[in-house]
Amino acid sequence: MLQQNVVMGSSPTPKDDPASSVADIRRDPALGTVVHVVRHRQGRPNQPTDVVNDDCPFCPGGLEAPDPYDVRWFVNRWPAMADDRCEVVLYSPLHDASMATLGAPAIARVIDLWAERTATLGARPDVDYVLVFENRGASVGATIAHPHGQIYAYDHVPDRPARLFAGSWKPDTDPARLVVGTDDWTVTVPFASEFPVAVSIAPRRCTADLPSLDATRRASLSEVLAEVFGRLDALYGEPIPYMMWINQRPFDGTTGDAWMSIDIVSPWRRAGLARFIAAAEVGAGEYFNPVVPEEIAARLRALADDQSV
Ligand SMILES: [Zn+2]
Repeated sequence: MLQQNVVMGSSPTPKDDPASSVADIRRDPALGTVVHVVRHRQGRPNQPTDVVNDDCPFCPGGLEAPDPYDVRWFVNRWPAMADDRCEVVLYSPLHDASMATLGAPAIARVIDLWAERTATLGARPDVDYVLVFENRGASVGATIAHPHGQIYAYDHVPDRPARLFAGSWKPDTDPARLVVGTDDWTVTVPFASEFPVAVSIAPRRCTADLPSLDATRRASLSEVLAEVFGRLDALYGEPIPYMMWINQRPFDGTTGDAWMSIDIVSPWRRAGLARFIAAAEVGAGEYFNPVVPEEIAARLRALADDQSV
């Protein structure tokens, strides 16, 4: 259920206090679309791509990471929602690292931190859904290059995960769209992918969330993620911009048989060339994908090498 300060199609009372302005959440009265009006985020800094590491707020010694660390989380200084619902997760102290280069042991530390923050935020009585996500690359909105992701803790279950779990989502089993299969995990290209490049990573055994994964499956997931991100960066011969998010069970008491998964998508239909979400897609709410999911699955499958899991 949306929080009480959602405004239904009328003008909100103007507020000067940034802490209250972050709570300006509106729902379109006809479509039901939820829009968070976050004027204060216009002021957040954009780090130039050629910034020297000394100026990076996420490098050890920087503004957000004064002490040495392997992985680190902190409350977002530029939150999209009030009440400490927005966190930043630093994957590595290495400014130029990425999921594709970190290696499985380092990724395992990120997974442990994602799981810990999911459990901690999900236990809050005012949190119904925890979204772990990452934007990598300026073209998908990343404002700082240092490897990091974010976490949003909602006081309601957003529409997309609500529909996903209400639809009893489970992993695709068609070998035509399989990229990687291990004892514990499957990596597939979604049947109706909205984006030119898309993979879905899911446990073979129904599991609701990251905190429910034991050490063995967290370790195997770290190997799968290292493999998948390596193949995604190899696909076009250069680092690919992507959006990643983790679908996990709601924390509103309606867990049911939710099956967790990790989605990674990229707008690139070839190296350096993005397929934009354009007027017909925004206007109609239907997508036109020029890349055949089975063909991108075959290309990603063919990128297996000696390092593959
Ligand atoms: Zn840095």
